[in-house]
Amino acid sequence: PEGRGLAAIRTTCAYCGVGCGISATVTGARSVTIAGDPDHPANHGRLCSKGTHLGETVGLEGRLLHPMIGNKRAGWDKALDLVARRFRDTVAQHGPNSVAFYVSGQLLTEDYYVANKLMKGFIGSANIDTNSRLCMSSAVAGHVRAFGEDVVPASYDDLDAADLIVLVGSNTAWCHPIVHQRIRARCEAGAKLVVIDPRRTETAAEANLHLAIRPGSDVALMNGALAWCREAGTLDERFIADHVTAPEDFWDTLSDGHDLWTVARTCDVPASDLKRFYELFAATPRTVTLFSQGINQSLAGTDQVNAILNLHLATGRIGKPGAAPFSITGQPNAMGGREVGGLATTLAAHMDFAAENRALVQRFWSSPTIAEKPGLKAVDLFRAVGEGRIKALWIMATNPAVSMPDAGRVREALAACPFVVVSDVMADIDTGAFAHVRLPATAWGEKDGTVTNSERMISRQRALFPLPGEAKPDWWIVSQVARRMGWKSAFAYDRPADIWREHVRLANYRNVGRRLFALPGQGGGGNAGYEEMAPFRWGGTPFADGRFATPDGRARLVPVAQKPAPAQLTRWPMTLNTGRYRDHWHTMTRTGLAPKLARHRAEPLVEVHADDAVRLGLVDGGLARVATPQGDSVYRVSVGEGQRPGELFVPIHWTDRTSSGGRTGLLPRPLADPISGQPGFKATPASIVAV
Ligand code: SF4
Repeated sequence: PEGRGLAAIRTTCAYCGVGCGISATVTGARSVTIAGDPDHPANHGRLCSKGTHLGETVGLEGRLLHPMIGNKRAGWDKALDLVARRFRDTVAQHGPNSVAFYVSGQLLTEDYYVANKLMKGFIGSANIDTNSRLCMSSAVAGHVRAFGEDVVPASYDDLDAADLIVLVGSNTAWCHPIVHQRIRARCEAGAKLVVIDPRRTETAAEANLHLAIRPGSDVALMNGALAWCREAGTLDERFIADHVTAPEDFWDTLSDGHDLWTVARTCDVPASDLKRFYELFAATPRTVTLFSQGINQSLAGTDQVNAILNLHLATGRIGKPGAAPFSITGQPNAMGGREVGGLATTLAAHMDFAAENRALVQRFWSSPTIAEKPGLKAVDLFRAVGEGRIKALWIMATNPAVSMPDAGRVREALAACPFVVVSDVMADIDTGAFAHVRLPATAWGEKDGTVTNSERMISRQRALFPLPGEAKPDWWIVSQVARRMGWKSAFAYDRPADIWREHVRLANYRNVGRRLFALPGQGGGGNAGYEEMAPFRWGGTPFADGRFATPDGRARLVPVAQKPAPAQLTRWPMTLNTGRYRDHWHTMTRTGLAPKLARHRAEPLVEVHADDAVRLGLVDGGLARVATPQGDSVYRVSVGEGQRPGELFVPIHWTDRTSSGGRTGLLPRPLADPISGQPGFKATPASIVAV
């Protein structure tokens, strides 16, 4: 990128799954002016506060610029040799499942592809999982159960065409601001907005109807909607007959306990409000139900996803403009990771571990081995580290010592692990303190590759600056280790375009590629012109032809039942919810560098209902200790009406480095949805006392 002068470079925002296009103009050695890319279909030139302030975060302050072995600077050769030797020796001594990678939705697709290839095809284990497990794996599992494959059957254009938008467990005004602007514009043009969220968020405040349901009662709510539509005669019988299969007793499971009054009691909302929602849904064919972490980050996340998908399938609200269930991803490239198979539960290119898929991928990679079965999902992976079953762990572009549930136990596990490698852009992150080797990776503005956003739009992220110090791209670092482990020709990549083309060939090899990449009018999308590749969405409108990826081409209605509310424990009388603030991202390693972003929320708050504050002697602006069976931390109290009585909300961003309190990762239990493995962050038993 040197010498590009003042020409604007089209790239993509580093933060959320909206995937906004950016027009970046380099103005100095490490300075850039940022504007929205008016030609990018995801944002049409708009940016939120985080994207707007990206230019403040491109300095080299706090960067890791050299490989480190322990606390000593080392050359790349020495560091890479050590990593390769320790992984090779561990595999030789204890087998392939004694090692693991924990990667990130911050990686580019090319980085993800190479890490997945090394672990599954060459080391021979599927122990590669990602922080996207914490973000959208319940949506993936729900899609596979209903559609036969992990496909998001929606795009942002559907929001522009919808007459009713239902947001479930999603504070889009803060977490996906540019999508929210689109929703707002559509509502100004007459569409209705229903928000289903236990909290009265900024998003909920704009809704025509807000259902502040009891946390975890979403299955009852959606099953009730399905029963209502059936009773009202508004199922799409033609669509069901032609395209949907249900188990014989599916409709029987809806006959009991799904009347309006029972569901209203279960969800703890007024029956009149519930009726309004059901009537609106039943009367509005062009409905998009957009869901996010309130659905996914639950111990019943996959069932909650399928309850939404059942409702859309049975009413034919799918595969048509303005009608879709829409799982919106948190991270900038969670979808790219899904596409290459960078999860412990998929092999590659959306394939599972069926024998024919394993043979196909091994043949394509010409690899010496191939993982036999799914590997350890994030929570189980760190449990295995703690139990000594994982003896070498490589963490890339993520900070599990802060972000994993029961983060205190994760720290103990990392401290006891015989060999930990951390690749990151920052020198002083919490997880890095446990590393035997730290490798300097490239940051936004230096990276070069592709990302896929929530609506499957693939965009280029382009380098703006020369690589600083000795920093290197993640794909290069992984490839160099693979070459040193003995697999030179399979990892002989010179540039990200080489990897992209291999990824496209593998997807096409499986034959899904025709649909993925050979789009008319896109120059084949990924097949040509990598440098100049314009954003393109693969897949068009999935299922528009009514065919699903099941053997018989029909979607599945999946029976799901509401679990009883957990017993209220005397010691833990409150329910703790966690989430994001508008202007911070994950553990603040980047947004913490932009002073203007800190103004919105300068410190971590625990939000408490006014009745609870009176009852518990909590004072607005005072301090309180929030405790759970896992740990405790101190927050400043914010008293208001936004929480339901008995419920607390805290942000996820603060760490040891940034605050003495607000250590939210210490609080959630290390429990996960049994199907997806996604941990529950939204309903932890808790207590609160003033300090
Ligand atoms: Fe970046 Fe998301 Fe904001 Fe768009 S909405 S500018 S992708 S943080």
